Amino acid sequence: MSILLPTSAAFDGSPTPRPAATFPRPRRDAAAFAKRLAQAGPRAIIAAAARAMPGRLAVVSSFGTESAVLLKFVADVDPSLPILFLDTQWLFKETLAYRDALVVHLRLTDVRTVTPSPSALALRDPKRNLCFRDREACCGIRKVAPLANELSAFDGWISGRKRYHGGERATLVVAEADGPRIKFNPLARMTRAELNAAFAAAELPRHPLEALGFSSVGCIPCTGRPAAGASVRGGRWGGLAKTECGIHAGPLPPSAN
Ligand code: SF4
Repeated sequence: MSILLPTSAAFDGSPTPRPAATFPRPRRDAAAFAKRLAQAGPRAIIAAAARAMPGRLAVVSSFGTESAVLLKFVADVDPSLPILFLDTQWLFKETLAYRDALVVHLRLTDVRTVTPSPSALALRDPKRNLCFRDREACCGIRKVAPLANELSAFDGWISGRKRYHGGERATLVVAEADGPRIKFNPLARMTRAELNAAFAAAELPRHPLEALGFSSVGCIPCTGRPAAGASVRGGRWGGLAKTECGIHAGPLPPSAN
């Protein structure tokens, strides 16, 4: 792992970060990032992360209903940043079309579609019904393990989570340790009103399912319309205690590669 920790000046736009000391030390470095970037805007956070770990930073996006805003900020900073898209093979065709449209709209040049291991699917989900029997296991082989494998090539990653989603996200910090990596949450402080304003300001296209009442979109079997008054993610895994797919539940497992 090689991270270039920026000085305070670098967070303000200085192009020259100082060399890293001894690594890995993601917990300590994440705390430093979180402190220095606590009041920074999304673009500044993304830029600081990209400067700190050149070539070793990825963005993870579901290309869901809110994703365009993070991707716009990423495109403003560096449209060649790798963007990892987890195709669980249970996605709506509208999401795949939206991904393709945003790639063109934002001129993103390195969107990588990550799929589950065929051998894991053959072994654990040969009848394609694991999501109806054991959702944790299904998310494990279709999301968590593929992402862990893909992120083994990176020192840090960027998520689009926000505090206003509530639940475990209500206390999100701008940067946090994630096993041997640092996870950045540049939209942590963004409100729903600010998100909508960002959509309007940049004239970003909306996910096609949003107009049909889906405020958050994931896999077909685990996505529904939220009940009246429910949170933005209230339609995900409806009726179950599950609220997260597992990629944010703690350090990702070691790569199987
Ligand atoms: Fe499987 Fe549902 Fe998780 Fe998608 S969200 S990986 S279908 S359990």
